[in-house]
Amino acid sequence: MESAEIRRRWLRFFEERGHTVVPSASLIADDPTLLLVPAGMVPFKPYFLGEVKPPFDRATSVQKCVRTPDIDEVGKTTRHGTFFQMCGNFSFGDYFKEGAITYAWELLTSSQADGGYGLEPEKLWITVYEKDDEAERIWRDVVGVPAERIQRLGMGPNFWSMGVPGPCGPCSEINYDRGPEFGEEGGPAVNDERYVEIWNLVFMQYERGPGHGKDGFDILGDLPAQNIDTGLGLERLAMILQGVQNMYETDTLRVVIDIATALTGVHYGHAHDSDVSLRVVADHMRTAVMLIGDGVTPGNEGRGYVLRRIMRRAIRNMRMLGADRPVVAELVDVVIGTMGEQYPELLNDRKRIESVALAEESRFLKTLSAGTNILDTAVTETKSKGGQVLSGDQAFLLHDTWGFPIDLTLEMASEQGLSVDEDGFRRLMKEQRDRAKADAQKKKTGHADLSAYREVADRSGATEFTGYLHDH
Ligand code: ATP
Ligand code: MG
Ligand code: MG
Ligand code: MG
Repeated sequence: MESAEIRRRWLRFFEERGHTVVPSASLIADDPTLLLVPAGMVPFKPYFLGEVKPPFDRATSVQKCVRTPDIDEVGKTTRHGTFFQMCGNFSFGDYFKEGAITYAWELLTSSQADGGYGLEPEKLWITVYEKDDEAERIWRDVVGVPAERIQRLGMGPNFWSMGVPGPCGPCSEINYDRGPEFGEEGGPAVNDERYVEIWNLVFMQYERGPGHGKDGFDILGDLPAQNIDTGLGLERLAMILQGVQNMYETDTLRVVIDIATALTGVHYGHAHDSDVSLRVVADHMRTAVMLIGDGVTPGNEGRGYVLRRIMRRAIRNMRMLGADRPVVAELVDVVIGTMGEQYPELLNDRKRIESVALAEESRFLKTLSAGTNILDTAVTETKSKGGQVLSGDQAFLLHDTWGFPIDLTLEMASEQGLSVDEDGFRRLMKEQRDRAKADAQKKKTGHADLSAYREVADRSGATEFTGYLHDH
């Protein structure tokens, strides 16, 4: 079943059951606490928080999502993309646990001829929050899932909360058993690659208070209205329904891998490392196109930096696969073609998306050609002395003179088996800023003093995409 059909069936199923179909919101969240939308519930947040009265009791959507914290999983696990689509159904004070659970089961297991997805019930495993007897009872007694395929998990995976004070409650997840070729048995509690999580049902049930109770925080009591928020990963379901090994081989991503192969001559399935690179390219180029489509432009802060980092990783992986000329035009073109069916606005915006992506590519190729030799020399020097750590001085030089962001240095060093003295690097960065600050004060030029902001950006580190602030 094609991705577009999975999406259609989702929306039709819930529409037929009284849900209002709400189009995907932009990836740029209308929410100051979020850089990008990571989940389907975000556009409905004001309803869940009770800030705005919802115009409907039930809604459904297929929401574009970006999760930058998953970036290091991409290509390595079978199931994490930086961009994915979350199919959701939502109840605002209407149906609760039993409604959400029975809808989910019906849609997943009813036959494809009847409009469902036709999954075999024996392959579905359920997790519930360890204290949620009610959810377990519904799965066992109402739906009829055998007790041995229902597992209880702790707060980490199976309890949800948002803000203080705010709503919170247990989750229940549906996982699909992909069989022994994906490893040992025992259910999702022991093996999350074999028993892949496909659908999370969140039961917003309690009000969370400011204190710390025995469960990690205070639960003040029941919410005045109980809500449902669910999310199913479209790409994960596509992976199962299309009978492929991982989400990058599903219809909308596989065509991107094939273009990467055409550009590099490296075939998918040839070797582990090159397969990881091909998957990273497919994932990241799709994310880049979707971000640019929603109006993000490459930059050194915030969303712009997310886009920049993702594009640069895609380009670098293409070079590791052997590409020695620009590749972005072809990759953008195929992504727009394959995603355009579900997001026609991409087709109308093709020219602009291409020109933003191409400009970033040419900027990055200049940076790379200047810095790569310097990095290689530093790596060789370090190794010849028997060292395993690139010094903070070298990382600082690469940054300051050659425009290499620290996370690029970290990645390229680690590909050659070295780590980097990040503390040393940050100390030098701080010294440089302090000098600049002192100079600025001496001169009293009247320019805005950005050093406080820079300190914050620097402290929060590379993994949070707050970014480097110096680029060539
Ligand atoms: P996982 O444990 O596999 O990382 P999660 O628990 O973080 O997933 P949820 O926050 O529960 O995911 O999101 C709801 C659904 O969205 C998941 O059940 C999954 O199907 C899908 N999903 C989450 N993260 C990703 C991702 N990075 N790529 C593709 N699909 C995802
Ligand atoms: Mg996750
Ligand atoms: Mg999970
Ligand atoms: Mg989950």
